[in-house]
Amino acid sequence: MSGGFTTKAIHTPFAKKDAHGALHMPVYDCASFEFDSAEEIIDAFEGKKAAHAYSRITNPTIEHFENKIRNVTGAQGVIAVSSGMAAISNLVMSLCGAGDHIISNKYLFGNTKALFASTLKTWGLEASFIDLENLAEVRKAIQPNTKLIFGETIANPQMRVIDIPALSLVAKENKIPLVIDSTCTPPYLFNGKLNGADVEVISSTKYISGGATSVGGLIIDHGTFQWKNNSHLADLAKKMGPFALLAKLRKEVYRNIGTCLTPHNAYLQSLGLETLALRANVSCQNTLALAEFLEAHPNIKKVNYPGLKSSPYFELSKRLFPHLPGSILTFDLGSKAECTKFMNHLKIIRRATNINDNKTLIIHPSATIFAEFTEEQKVAMEVTSTMMRLSVGIEDLIDLKKDIELGLKSL
Ligand code: PLP
Repeated sequence: MSGGFTTKAIHTPFAKKDAHGALHMPVYDCASFEFDSAEEIIDAFEGKKAAHAYSRITNPTIEHFENKIRNVTGAQGVIAVSSGMAAISNLVMSLCGAGDHIISNKYLFGNTKALFASTLKTWGLEASFIDLENLAEVRKAIQPNTKLIFGETIANPQMRVIDIPALSLVAKENKIPLVIDSTCTPPYLFNGKLNGADVEVISSTKYISGGATSVGGLIIDHGTFQWKNNSHLADLAKKMGPFALLAKLRKEVYRNIGTCLTPHNAYLQSLGLETLALRANVSCQNTLALAEFLEAHPNIKKVNYPGLKSSPYFELSKRLFPHLPGSILTFDLGSKAECTKFMNHLKIIRRATNINDNKTLIIHPSATIFAEFTEEQKVAMEVTSTMMRLSVGIEDLIDLKKDIELGLKSL
């Protein structure tokens, strides 16, 4: 259907008219669906008739959420899964096998780094962690067995931005899919298809859930990569063409791994999507205002937000994110002790580990979400002991400024 982002998010039609004419997609909270005849259930299992049979594989509420995401992104197809990490792991397991290689940005969300460097390594996957801002380094890292290039739109929490259209050209030259984690800048803030991402993975736990209501993830295939060029999908591509990845996931990897979204969470996230643009506009404006406020403050050593004119990523981020580059910023205080003192004096801003909630959240990444890494590894990942991460919500700006002033006064 046509229209702007929010119109599409609200008015995406149901795949089938609801039996009771419900205006909002109901929660089909059931494991299984019955068929009128033996022939019909056989046809469904043979793929001759599209029908829901079992909720681990498809479900009407989850399908409607997927259709909404497909509609707002213009993607070829979407699979909603149980978490952002499930999206990344299902995708990598669909495109790679033992003995394969991937190229990943070295500036990465900690759990993703651990997934590539540790969990999937034990299954025979080799990962090169390099600087994706350096295209010569990317070209040099490509091997005959490289199955994908992986990066985040804005690295969390390093706030580094990669030039996705430029990376996409390198990936295309080498017939390797470019996979982009756009969690920090989901659809509305970033158009993956327009910027050359072949596949997007998103933690819908964040912005899309509508205020940290539920955990979920999305795999979005933009239909731009020729899956015949991936050795694990080549046979399937002969039959399914551009749908080969989606078929591999739905009929094998996602089905067999079993990381399905619950219908209830699909319902919450479907609702969240309807107000995403409204919430993102407010939280991004708040973030820019707070970044400018912090930058002007004498007690603050450094502020990182790609929307700041002083950021080395300002011009690139204007190109990639036509509204604003998300609602996360980092800033540096004098020491780790100052960081904890600052956090303990906040009254409105919550000490919690999440991003893109309606509430503003603060965390000391080095001592929490990156605690499993050595000091040396943290330095290499630019996660320093003086850095605080602020995920800005939709509260009234004046209250957020007052709260930050309270924290700063305590130092
Ligand atoms: N990717 C990024 C950039 C994240 O920040 C996160 C979580 O914070 C994830 C992936 C994982 O998402 P989830 O917690 O939904 O598994």
